[in-house]
Parts: sequence; structure tokens; C-alpha cells
Amino acid sequence: MKSLDRCILHACRLHTLSVQSRSFASTSELRKNIKCDLLVVGGGAGGCAMAAKFASKLGKNKVVIVEPKDVHYYQPMFTLIGGGMKTLADSARSMASVLPSKAQWVKDEVAQFSPKLNSVTTKNGDTIEYNFMLVAVGLQLNYDKVKGLEDALAKDPRVCSNFSPQYVDKTFKALQNFQGGPAIFTFPNTPVKCAGAPQKVMYITEEFLRKVGKRDVSDIKYCTSLGVIFGVKKYAAALLELCKKRGIEVNLRQNLIKVKHETSEAVFEYLDKPGETITLKYSLLHATPPMSAPDVLSKCSDLTDKAGYLDVNKTNLQHVKFPNVFGIGDCTNVPTSKTAAAVAGQCGVIKKHLAAVMAGKPLPSAEYDGYTSCPLVTGYSSCILAEFDYDGQPLETFPFNQGKERWSTFFMKKAIMPDLYWHGMLNGYWEGPKIFRKILHFGMGK
Ligand SMILES: Cc1cc2nc3c(=O)[nH]c(=O)nc-3n(C[C@H](O)[C@H](O)[C@H](O)COP(=O)(O)OP(=O)(O)OC[C@H]3O[C@@H](n4cnc5c(N)ncnc54)[C@H](O)[C@@H]3O)c2cc1C
Repeated sequence: MKSLDRCILHACRLHTLSVQSRSFASTSELRKNIKCDLLVVGGGAGGCAMAAKFASKLGKNKVVIVEPKDVHYYQPMFTLIGGGMKTLADSARSMASVLPSKAQWVKDEVAQFSPKLNSVTTKNGDTIEYNFMLVAVGLQLNYDKVKGLEDALAKDPRVCSNFSPQYVDKTFKALQNFQGGPAIFTFPNTPVKCAGAPQKVMYITEEFLRKVGKRDVSDIKYCTSLGVIFGVKKYAAALLELCKKRGIEVNLRQNLIKVKHETSEAVFEYLDKPGETITLKYSLLHATPPMSAPDVLSKCSDLTDKAGYLDVNKTNLQHVKFPNVFGIGDCTNVPTSKTAAAVAGQCGVIKKHLAAVMAGKPLPSAEYDGYTSCPLVTGYSSCILAEFDYDGQPLETFPFNQGKERWSTFFMKKAIMPDLYWHGMLNGYWEGPKIFRKILHFGMGK
């Protein structure tokens, strides 16, 4: 176990003491063949929420969850940790305390999927056979795909990344130690979790530098591989305006390919001019790593599309080839922005469809519309709350313009959403704000 995880576990101990004793199959107790009604692979946001729903429905130990980690992080808080507004311990709970007590936790990782045999094999060599499976393995962070980045993250205090619990603590230290010069923020050439996060850290940094009187000597640049600052027109316009107002340079279609920390240089390829690169000096570099579905999933071509993501029907999250397999969250190929909010929106639809498939009943009419949300934190007390669907159309919960920076939505992000996650979503109760949207819009709209 990494020393960081040990520290976090220590911080979680008090919390864990209050957790009732629960079913946990250690690897020494387990031998070779486990059978279950529902196998949930991954105990992150989606896996935990869905396991909670079905464990209470199906009864004790009918649901098996395979999850290797000891600590569950509320990742949306990483943005606030990077800005010094929360600590890593605030974002962590022991895995034992968040997984549903009625499910059996296999603390191991799936090493091979065999969907034709309705089974998986774990790293420890055990086989788990299932009647139904939910795949919820999230995304893999590929820091190694940018030459020199892992080395720079290990050795250079000016290089940071909010995306991993391993590095998120570096960000605020880098901000505090910044003495001026170029501060560069990147977005890679792959889908990422929370597409707004690579720029939220930049707005927080910009305000921080103003507060400490270093803004005049700093030069902030956003280098993104995308052709737009954000995928939804309404919010993209607001963000471009914000960058203009706050003197932030936006460079589109530039992809970070190399970091040379000895010379403080970041090398970008021009995506529209193959073979051409530009080298920028940095005094601070926040890198968002390339991401992909985890290798174990990508290598199972029966389950995945060409890009390696779980191939599901976008309206009900059922696998396109195996009707007893569903997917949720970041590892799926549903064409929406990958967020915990999207996971919440998917939960209710999957619950209905999976329950119908289990009972041999016709599929219900409930459809996932691609709902996702990105609280675009723009500083220490402001946020643009983006909410939208598959078509990039805003699906705003509140009856005011969420495209404006507001304190109220920042307060929600910082003070309300964490509790909603820990107590509502992970326990299987929170399925997104659709019902509130209907009420607040007097039943009008979607
Ligand atoms: C910096 C940052 C900011 C973010 N901000 C927001 C935000 O403001 N709002 C928002 O809604 N979302 C935000 N997100 C995104 C959100 O955290 C993710 O979209 C969400 O956690 C996805 O849930 P998931 O269940 O698909 O994956 P995860 O929660 O990542 O869980 C995947 C789980 O699968 C496990 N796993 C992986 N491989 C295996 C295997 N082989 N066998 C068994 N288990 C395995 C992992 O250990 C992990 O526990 C942010 C994320 C980051 C990093």
C-alpha cells in the first residue's frame, strides 16, 4: 500500500469505527469459484451507488463487488483541494465504510472479463460467475503517455495535477511557491473525467495570484487539444468572455506531448499541423493526463467499441451484445461528458432496466437523456453551473441563468454536493436533479 493511502486510511479510521461490521471476503477466505446474482465491477461512484440499490433489493450477499482499493475518494473535491479550500482527507472515506453492508466485497481486481462464460477472473486467480454484471471501472490515468511527465511530477514542485490523489496535494503548494512567469494549464487529446476540471484549476489560480499580488508578473495560458474551450455553446461563450476579462490566453488544438523539467519546458504538438510542435517555458504547469478505459476492459473486444470503452446502448446503458451486462459511468461509450453527475442521472434508468431484465419483463420506457453537469468553479466564491444533455442543450435545474458566475452555485459545489454524494448517491438514493428541475420550472421543459 502506498504511504499516501496509509495516511488517508489513518484519517478515515475514526469514520470507519462507526461503520457496522460488514461482509468482507478476504482473499484467504475466498477460493476459486464464487457465484452471484449481480456482479458489480468497481466500487467508485457508479459501482457503489448501484450495488447499494441492488443489495437492498436482492438481499444479503446476492451482490458481489470487486474493488481493489482501500480508500474511496470523492473526486469532484480534488478541484477544491488544488485551490487550498479542502484537504485530501476531506475527500476520502475508507472503502469498507461506503460499500453497502449487504453486498459481498471481494477486495481484488478483475484481470479478465469472459462475457461469453458469464464470468470474470481476478488478479488473485479466483473466478466469479454471475447472472448479471454491471461494469463500473471508471477511467485509467495515463500520465506515462506524456514523455517526462511522471518524472516531472515526481521531481519538480512546479508541476502538478489535480486528477490523481497521488499528486493533487502538489497543486496548492505550487500556487503558494509561484513567483511569476508562465503558468500553463493543459487538456489532453482524449476524453477525460470532468471536462471542465482542467480549466477550473486555472481560474482558481488566477484569483489566487491576484489575491497574493502576483498576477501582474504572471502569464496564464490554457492549452487545449480541443477546438473549443467547452463543448456547450452557452457555457463556452461565458468562459471565453471570462478568459478575455481575466487576461487568460486560450490556445486551441495544442496537445502536451513532452515535459522537460530540467529546462522548465513543455512541448506541445499542433493537432492541425501534423509534425509541428511548439515549446513553452513554464514556471507552473498543471497537467491533465491522457485517459482511457482501463486496459483490462479495453483488451476484451467482445465488450468494447473500437476506442476500448464499454459498448452500451446510450438510452438504457445495456450492453449492445450481452443483455445481462450493463455499464455505468466513465468507462462506457455514452457520448456525454464523463462526470459523477452523469453517473447519478444514469442510476435511475439502469435500476429500472436491469430490474426488468432480471425479472424477465419487457424493458421500461425510461431513457437516459445524456444528463451531465459540470460546476465550473471560477474562483474562491464563484461558479458557472453547466448542466446539459446529449445534444449539448442546457438542462438547468434552477430557474435562473446558470451561465453566469454565482456565489450560490459555488456554495452548492463546496458545501452541499459532498453530502449529497456520500449520503444520497453512494447509498443509492440520489438519481440526479430531474425531479427538482421539473418542480422549479413548474413542470415545463424536459
Ligand atoms: C479533478 C476532478 C474533478 C472532477 N469534478 C467533478 C465535478 O465537479 N462534478 C462531477 O459530477 N464529476 C466530477 N469529476 C468526475 C467524477 O469523479 C467521475 O466522473 C466519477 O467518479 C465517475 O464514476 P465511475 O464510477 O465511472 O468511476 P470511478 O468513480 O473513478 O470508479 C471506478 C472504480 O473502479 C475501480 N476499478 C478500476 N479497475 C478495476 C478492476 N480491474 N477491477 C475492479 N475494480 C476496478 C477503481 O478502483 C475505482 O474505484 C471530477 C473528477 C476529477 C478527477
